[in-house]
Amino acid sequence: MIPRPFEYHAPTSIEAALALLAAHGSEAKLLAGGHSLLPMMKLRFAEPAHLIDLNRIGTLRGIRLEGNTIHIGAMTCENDLIWSPLLAEHCPLLIETARLISDPQVRYRGTIGGDITHGDPGNDHPAVMLCLGASFVLQGSRAERVVAADGYFLGMYSTAIEADEILTEIRIPVPAKSSGSCYAKLKRKTGDFATAAAAVLLELDGDTIVDVSIALTNVGPTALAATDAESFLRGRQLTDETAIEAARLAMEICDPVEDLRGSVEYKRAMAGEMTQRALHMAAARAGR
Ligand SMILES: Cc1cc2nc3c(=O)[nH]c(=O)nc-3n(C[C@H](O)[C@H](O)[C@H](O)COP(=O)(O)OP(=O)(O)OC[C@H]3O[C@@H](n4cnc5c(N)ncnc54)[C@H](O)[C@@H]3O)c2cc1C
Repeated sequence: MIPRPFEYHAPTSIEAALALLAAHGSEAKLLAGGHSLLPMMKLRFAEPAHLIDLNRIGTLRGIRLEGNTIHIGAMTCENDLIWSPLLAEHCPLLIETARLISDPQVRYRGTIGGDITHGDPGNDHPAVMLCLGASFVLQGSRAERVVAADGYFLGMYSTAIEADEILTEIRIPVPAKSSGSCYAKLKRKTGDFATAAAAVLLELDGDTIVDVSIALTNVGPTALAATDAESFLRGRQLTDETAIEAARLAMEICDPVEDLRGSVEYKRAMAGEMTQRALHMAAARAGR
């Protein structure tokens, strides 16, 4: 199908983009990489009369370290995450995740901000953001607010951002040096969304788990934080038995829908499988 006609705007500053958003209200949509929005427009699920392209706003791109926090501009594309020396040193989980997103064409244009804000439960960044304890800077024309990832993802295609706000930056606390991480993703073929995936960040003191976070992709209406599994693991050692019990607790919170990727039972079982795999891999990587 062909999208409905729209007026195209290409502002070069955040202020100009905010002014356009304020002027056109719910008739406007922000364009980042376009890999989710344009298919929606072609199917006429989205019919904006005004398209505000963020690609000419250079200040929305880039990755930097300030103190103990990684700052990532919302328009930073997946490929820039993959090749970032800063992330390789301080947050390899993001690189592992970005590498598993679709194909080079999508990764060259698709942005971390678009992936987070689209609200698709199949997108990979939301679970990783929960796992890393990230927060999001939302800029409106009158005020800026910072919202924690835990609380940002409200439901299918629904996030806490308001229609007159732009996600400008993602902030991630640098994971402890003694931590290990893994994003384990099951997909039917290269380029596919996850059948189920698990993100794990785990900190060890000797063999004891002092802290762990676990979040799941595409097994519920939003990314899910497996908090019962986390509580169970804290203070224990990671063994086959404790990993199986953590996976069982993670599976309990899953609420997937049946589709071409599998039945509800299969997806729930795969979420457990990915959780175990990510836990063992994160533990093996911890302290390296
Ligand atoms: C074939 C294919 C396979 C894919 N596979 C995967 C996959 O395996 N995993 C995965 O995670 N993703 C996958 N994707 C989705 C891809 O990662 C998209 O790029 C991503 O979902 C949206 O990012 P974008 O930059 O393209 O945003 P756009 O499509 O431009 O925008 C998406 C939505 O976010 C809003 N938005 C964008 N940026 C901002 C901002 N800064 N502030 C406020 N709102 C904003 C837009 O208005 C729109 O509503 C796939 C896409 C395709 C086409």
